[in-house]
Amino acid sequence: MTLKQLEEFFEKCKVNHLHGRYINLDHISPLIDQLSSSLSIKIEGYSVNNNPIHSIQWGNGKTRILIWSQMHGNESTTTKAIFDLFQALQQHMFSEEFKGVQLMILPMLNPDGAQMYTRQNANDIDLNRDAKDISQPESRILRKAFDAFKPHYCFNMHGQRTLYSAGPAPNSAVLSFLAPAADPERTVNQSRKQSMAVIAEMKKQLTPLIPGQIALYNDAFNINCVGDTFQSHSTPSILFEAGHFPKDYNREVVRRLIFKAMAIAISFISNSPHSTYDYEHYTEIPQNEERFYDILIRNTSDADIGIRYKEILKDGKIEFIPEVTDMGILDNKYGHKEINADQYSVLSLKKEPFKPGDEIDIVLINNEKFSLKLTDS
Ligand SMILES: [Zn+2]
Repeated sequence: MTLKQLEEFFEKCKVNHLHGRYINLDHISPLIDQLSSSLSIKIEGYSVNNNPIHSIQWGNGKTRILIWSQMHGNESTTTKAIFDLFQALQQHMFSEEFKGVQLMILPMLNPDGAQMYTRQNANDIDLNRDAKDISQPESRILRKAFDAFKPHYCFNMHGQRTLYSAGPAPNSAVLSFLAPAADPERTVNQSRKQSMAVIAEMKKQLTPLIPGQIALYNDAFNINCVGDTFQSHSTPSILFEAGHFPKDYNREVVRRLIFKAMAIAISFISNSPHSTYDYEHYTEIPQNEERFYDILIRNTSDADIGIRYKEILKDGKIEFIPEVTDMGILDNKYGHKEINADQYSVLSLKKEPFKPGDEIDIVLINNEKFSLKLTDS
């Protein structure tokens, strides 16, 4: 499978009905209803607010892969890519490439959080810190699916904020991955090696599209995290993080990349299950580092100003509100957008200086107005 083929597949199967950041059950329900009988659909249970949590199964190969998305309700990019993948499966695009696997996919594990555009569920619990307690209905549903399906691999699909760089270089971490630790010592055991091998393969194949923009998520062991728990049960688990491609605040570019990443990973597993081939290359991937602001104003008369967008759900849309995050010497930081103040002071429209926590749409630099609002979202 070449990148060109994957690009053609994506163009043919992209679900235009899903777009932007706010994706909830109302968006995906009609799409689930329209799926063909080649995919088997089941309601696995109900969320705190009694919303259905679906599973979709495909294929009858020997190697089982369990995939879940949007356990954090405001991380919707991977859900979009999963519905693109469903289209590809229905159109038999991957019949040969995926013939060794059986997929079970929970496209929206946290429908209440998706509705409210929150990370947490309706009880304000982070489901990715509930793997040990299993205190929430959504956590019980995932655990039940894991126990019943007995996957050979797990894909834990997330989205990450714009602040991450891939290592110290000024490259946004467009995609980040993790082969979670299975114990506090972070032992590189067989199942971790298998996770690492899949990630190394995705990195190798996707690097021509996003050179230097693939990174590793932090790998401190945390038994409350679902991936770590499943890894500790010797099931190779892989964390996918859809990150920020420059200017792609709607996460449509990275959606395309996640589609390709999933296809590469599933195909690799289908063709060489349990492989640890080239897993060492995993360690060459740079770490996520917190080096980016959405906007960085440099060379002011005083401190550099680092600004990040707060995402607010309003009238069914996500608004991006610029907020001053840090002020000081921000020499080793980067901005997705940078403004050079040429030693002038940076003031509000009322001609007052800023402080961290201030929300600002417009700044005055030498009496000239600069809008900080996103123009295309
Ligand atoms: Zn997440």
